Formats: sequence, structure tokens, C-alpha cells
Amino acid sequence: MSGSSQEKSAHARLTRWILWAMLLGIATGTALHALLSALDPDSPIATGLREGLVNGIFQVAGQAFLRLLTVLVVPVVFLSLVCGSAAMDDIRKLGRVGLRALALYLVTTAAAISMAMGLALLFGPGRGFTLDAGANFEARPSPPLADTFVNLVPKNALEAMAAGNMLQIIVFSILLGLALTLAGAAGKRVLGACNDWNDVIMKLVGIVMSLAPIGVFALIARTFANEGFGAFGPLIGYFLTVLLALALHCFGVYPLLLKILARLPIGPFFRKMREVHLFAFSTASSNATIPVTLNTVEFRLGVSNPIASFTVPLGATINMDGTAIMQGVATIFIAQAYGLELGPPQLLMVVLTATLASIGTAGVPGVGLVMLSMVLTQAGLPVEGIALILGIDRLLDMARTAVNVTGDATVSCIVARSEGELDTALYNDPAK
Ligand code: ASP
Repeated sequence: MSGSSQEKSAHARLTRWILWAMLLGIATGTALHALLSALDPDSPIATGLREGLVNGIFQVAGQAFLRLLTVLVVPVVFLSLVCGSAAMDDIRKLGRVGLRALALYLVTTAAAISMAMGLALLFGPGRGFTLDAGANFEARPSPPLADTFVNLVPKNALEAMAAGNMLQIIVFSILLGLALTLAGAAGKRVLGACNDWNDVIMKLVGIVMSLAPIGVFALIARTFANEGFGAFGPLIGYFLTVLLALALHCFGVYPLLLKILARLPIGPFFRKMREVHLFAFSTASSNATIPVTLNTVEFRLGVSNPIASFTVPLGATINMDGTAIMQGVATIFIAQAYGLELGPPQLLMVVLTATLASIGTAGVPGVGLVMLSMVLTQAGLPVEGIALILGIDRLLDMARTAVNVTGDATVSCIVARSEGELDTALYNDPAK
């Protein structure tokens, strides 16, 4: 077998294994949930299943896998961005790429939330809803906009890395990469070492990815064992509206953008994104998925390293179209549930707050709900309404994270194409 068809079958095999692991996880988790709901919670069998399996083996295997992915994020982002920005021959190009990516990220997020609110207004999932009086949820005040910008600049590079502050790591890595190109022979030596380290870390990404079937099974089985489908009940309208908006954005808007702005075929994109989708879905974290997204965007979709290493981590932090969609539907849902009308100024405020709140909020599980509390506060809606949707948020978090990472990859391809830095042969190569 030739090298590339071997690679293809390895990728296809891994994706298939992860898919099976996910389905098995859903089935196992759902069965366990049903069993645990039927059993007396204090019976030895229920305790054994809950503590030994769900909160024992599944929790350990799932969290260990998640940690392995997460531990790669900072080295992957730092190294690939240092190498990437050192390879950008022109500083103006960096500015251009940055502005284009930022504009696309913000515009797609604003479009996503507007569409989501439109659908929610149309379907009215919150009409005729009765509120749970005991509900409460702590609102987090939104940070002043000036702080968002000041916080882009790290004051301690190691602290930024230790905290996993993606935007500060991006700023520091780009500055370091630029300095390497200006530092003559010393810069070349350090850059050589960085390139070597980058190759080593990417190998490690491959090793961790090969453990995915076990990790994904454990994560999904535990989630479904804990959540089950019982919490849906009256929330089914909300759930389906979010899913519909996510599907329209993912399979309608992104393909259109790829076609119109980058003149690229859609098939290879979605085929190669399968692995990334599965990782994002099972981890519910765009951040933890960065190593896999970067790997796919660069080595399978053909985006050059300088562009991919910049747009992917940036996107994981500031681009959350899926999250914005949930926020759009949730805002209308909560307003309807409380019998409140939102006028055009309030709707606009929701779009603006949700789009801006996504800047500087790391892509980790559940962060969308924290951002939602800011959006609701700005729109003058009761923040306690969040408690209504808490119960089913984890499942939606998984789906919206898959959309978030699709947005990151779409914008990466468009920006690379506009700079003439997308290898279309690699993009179209079915063997990669
Ligand atoms: N889990 C999402 C992400 O990592 C963020 C969210 O919607 O909560 O992209």
C-alpha cells in the first residue's frame, strides 16, 4: 500500500473507531441512566454502578483523556504560532490576516445569533411555559470593554501559559516569532529548535488522538448516564430549535461561505472535518480540540502553517457561532417563558453583547451559559431563567462546540485562500 493510502486508511479507521465509541457510549450511558432511575438509589447495585462505573472508571478514563488533550494545547499553540509568525515574511500580511479572520469571526457570529433569534421568534419554544419558582443562577457581570483589550497583553508570559490564556499566548507567540526573524543567526538557531519541537509535539498529538476511542466512549457514556433524556419534557421545543439553527449554520452558511468566498468544494471539507467534529462533540471544548483542529486544517485541508497556527487558536477563543446560536434561542425562549417582549433595540443589544462576550472567553465546557448571563443582563431579562435550560445544556454544548470548531476551520480556509496559502491539491486529496 502506498504511503498516502495507508494514511487515509489510518485516518478512516480512527474516525470509524471514534464514531463507534461514541455510539456505544450513547447506548451504554442511556441504558445506565434508565437502570439507575429504576433502581433504589441506595441499593448496592445502584451505588456500585454509580460510584464504581459512572463516577469511577468512566470518570477516570474520560478525564484522563481530556487532560491529555488539554496539556497539548499550550505547547501546540505556542510552538506552531512562533514558527508560523516567523515564517510570515511580511508584517503587513500578519495584520491583513488578523483583520480578515477577526472580521469573519465576528460577522459569522452576529449572523448566527440573528438567525437563531429569528427561528426562536418563529417557533416560540418558550410560549406557554411555567417557570420554576425555586430557580436561581448567579449572574456574572460583564467586564468593561477596555479591560478586554488591556487583557490581550500579557504581563507574565509563563503566567499566561499556566492559565491557558489563549489571547495572551497568541500575542506573546507572535511577538516572539517576529523577533526570531529579526535576530539573525541566533533567531535562526532558535527557530530551528522550535520547528523540531513543533514536529515532536505534533507526533504527540497523533499518539493522544489514537487513544480517542477509549476517551470518547468514557466521556460520552458518563454524560449520558448522568443526563439521560428525561430532562427534555417541555424543553423539547427549545432543544430542537437550537439544533435546527446549528444545523442550518453548519451545513448551510459555512458551505455557502466556502463556495462563495473561497471557491472551494464542500465534500472534502466535511469529510476531513469528521474527526474534529467527533472530538469537539465528545469533549465539548473548542480549546481541548485545538490540537486536532490544527492538525486537520494544516495537514489535511492544506492551510499553510503561518495562517492555521494563527486562525485556529484565535477562533477557538473568539469564534463561537454555535454558542451564539444557543444564546440567541435561549434569550428569546426565556423572554417568552417570562411573558416579556423584546423590542428591536433589545434584540440588537443581544446580538452585540453575545458577539463581544465571545471575545476573550475560552472555549471550555459550559462557558456559553456564563456568557448567556451577561447577555440576559444587558437585555434586561431575568438571569434566573438560565436555570430552566441548565438541565439539558450539556448535550447542546456538545453539538454547539462541533459548530464552533467548524467555524474556525471554515474561516481558516477562507483566509488562507484569500492569501494564496491554501494547498488546493492537498484540500482535494481524498487520500489525506
Ligand atoms: N463548549 C463551547 C466551546 O468550547 C463553549 C460553550 O458554548 O459553552 O466552544
